[in-house]
Formats: sequence, structure tokens, C-alpha cells
Amino acid sequence: MTPLVQAPRDQLGRQPGDLRISVTDRCNLRCRYCMPREKFGSDHAFLPREQLLSFEEIYRVVWAAHRLGVRRVRLTGGEPLLRRDLPHLIELLNGLPDLELALTTNGTLLAEQATALAEAGLDRVTVSLDSLDDTTFRDMTDSAASVSEVLAGIDAARSAGLGPIKINTVVRRGRNCHTTLELARYFKTSGITIRFIEYMDVGRTNRWRREEVVPSAQLVETIDAVFKLEPVEPAFPGEVARRYRYADGEGEVGFISSVTQPFCGQCTRLRLSSEGQLYTCLFAERGTDLKGPLRDGLDDEGIVDLLASVWRRRSDRYSEQRSSVRGSTQPIEMSYIGG
Ligand code: SAM
Ligand code: SF4
Ligand code: SF4
Repeated sequence: MTPLVQAPRDQLGRQPGDLRISVTDRCNLRCRYCMPREKFGSDHAFLPREQLLSFEEIYRVVWAAHRLGVRRVRLTGGEPLLRRDLPHLIELLNGLPDLELALTTNGTLLAEQATALAEAGLDRVTVSLDSLDDTTFRDMTDSAASVSEVLAGIDAARSAGLGPIKINTVVRRGRNCHTTLELARYFKTSGITIRFIEYMDVGRTNRWRREEVVPSAQLVETIDAVFKLEPVEPAFPGEVARRYRYADGEGEVGFISSVTQPFCGQCTRLRLSSEGQLYTCLFAERGTDLKGPLRDGLDDEGIVDLLASVWRRRSDRYSEQRSSVRGSTQPIEMSYIGG
């Protein structure tokens, strides 16, 4: 194994630890906070296949990121389970040592794919689920999908050994916040950790309003009033969720509070879009093209150098600056950059 290149530090002293890879910009749901149907309708032009990075190209980028100290890779999208032959990519990445491989999915296609993903070497899945109530779920996802499909996906993932499983729930005031306690109760005894995510102003299309953000502190209070909570130390530096355990010993719950309690100082993330743009911040306006150099024959050490130079230059910390910069920037879409 080629030795680790000294992990670079960015302008704020941060080091890379995670790479999130969007393997497709397509999705079978239309969550209003992510891909509103007005902008992602039947006439929306998604990327043509030849513009997507191939699995071999993705592997080369991950290999280079691994040399810089990245030890956690998450496949995302769009809906990653729409990318054909995804287990093949997982098999390739699984050849890299000491690398945790996770996937974030809306869960609707997981029941049929969980076994193949696990056999290919996927370690963990995070399943997004915004409500247990079909009416609220369909309103959030603007789709005809049903909660039972997602729950079947979670069961299949568990049976396939894809664990520990996490659930992501985006909370929007007036839309699904009345169902959050029910979600917490459902997953409390299941061995699955649910994380409630503050609704973010990512992208340009979801018409985010701050009034719709339910601060995590308020949710902690609501849950704590019913099931006593105790704070838990982060599992690793840069962990974005604030963790709590139930005082009765039955599991954990997490809160991702990027609006009310930003964590940019610990940001260890790189992001690769499905067409090969490299980003650091989720709220970036532009990335660095890797596809061109990859297809023009850049060698492996060249990719390592390119990634390191992008990381060294970064000084972004959008969530900490939100109130002063919001409106003056044009962040790219979540479904393009990957969540
Ligand atoms: N389609 C997959 C899914 O939904 O899990 C993976 C991609 S999705 C962009 C990744 C995560 O981003 C999901 O958990 C989703 O709920 C979250 N997300 C999308 N838009 C968001 C927003 N505006 N604020 C907070 N989280 C958001
Ligand atoms: Fe699709 Fe995931 Fe975005 Fe929902 S959050 S529209 S499932 S990419
Ligand atoms: Fe990292 Fe940007 Fe999110 Fe801050 S806003 S934590 S810098 S991705």
C-alpha cells in the first residue's frame, strides 16, 4: 500500500476525513426541500450518462482522497440506488484498506438491493424517512411512495447486516414536525439511531424560510419531556450529529443543527458530484473539475496533488456566516452535490 501523503490543512486548520460521492443527479422522489417539482419536472434535463464519472474514475478519486487521510466514504445522490450496477463500485472501493463505506438512500429501492450491496462490501446505510404517517410522508416527498416500502428497505438492510443503520429526518415546521415524537418512539427500541436534521437553505430552488426551521433545542426539549435524554460524547472528531442516549438505556437519538449550531470548525468533508466536480462546502457556488483532468490522462499523483491543493485553499464556513452572506450567494443543488 502506498504510504499516506501528509494530510493537508486548509486555511482554517481543518484536515480531510470524509468524501461524499453523488453517483447520480436523478431521483424517484421529489422532496419539496430538495427537488421541488416546479424545478425538477418531467422536462428537467438530468445529466446524460457519458457525463457521469465512470466507476473506475470514481475509484481513482477515492484512492487519491484515501492517500490524503480520508477514511469515510458515503455514496449519495440524487438517489444512489438508481445508479446501475452500484454494487460493482462498492466492490472496487472495498479494495481500499481501512475505509468505511456508507450509503444514504431514500430507502424505496433498498428492499430489493440490500443483499447485493452488503455482499459487495457496503458497511452501513442511512435511510431518509421524514414521517411514519403516509399522508405526511407523501407531502414531504411529493410522491406516491409509501412508508411501508421504506420500512421494508430498513428491515432488508438489517437482515443483510448493513449496520448500524441510521435514519435521517428533515424537520419542517408546519409540515412534519407533529410526527417527530412518533418517529423517535418507533426507533427508540429498534437499535436504529434516528437523527433529526434542521431544514437547510441549500440550493436555489426550495424557497427556504427560516421560520420553517425547527431548532434542535426545541426538539430535544419535546423528546426529553417524554423520554429522558442524556448527552453522549462525539464518536470521532468532526461528527456532525449531537448525540443523546435515552436515560432508560434504550438506544440513542441525534440532532444535526447546521442552522442553529453550525459546526464548520470541524468540517472534514470533500464532495464529488456525479459529473466529477469537486467541492468542499455543501453551500459552494462552484467546484473544481476533475473529470477533464482524469480523461486527459492525469496520473495518480497528479490527482492527489489536485485534491490537496483544493483542500489547502479552502476557507469556506457558510453555516457560520449564513446571516451575513445569505442571499448574496447562489449555492448549487443538494441533489447534484449530494447531501
Ligand atoms: N436520495 C437520498 C436520500 O434522500 O437519502 C440521498 C441524497 S439526499 C440529498 C441526502 C440527505 O439530504 C437526505 O437525508 C435528505 O433528507 C437531506 N436533505 C436534502 N435536502 C435537505 C435540506 N434542504 N435540508 C436538510 N437536509 C436535506
Ligand atoms: Fe431525492 Fe433524497 Fe432529494 Fe428526497 S432528499 S428528493 S429522496 S435526493
Ligand atoms: Fe462544512 Fe460548509 Fe457545512 Fe460549514 S456549511 S459544515 S463548511 S459543508
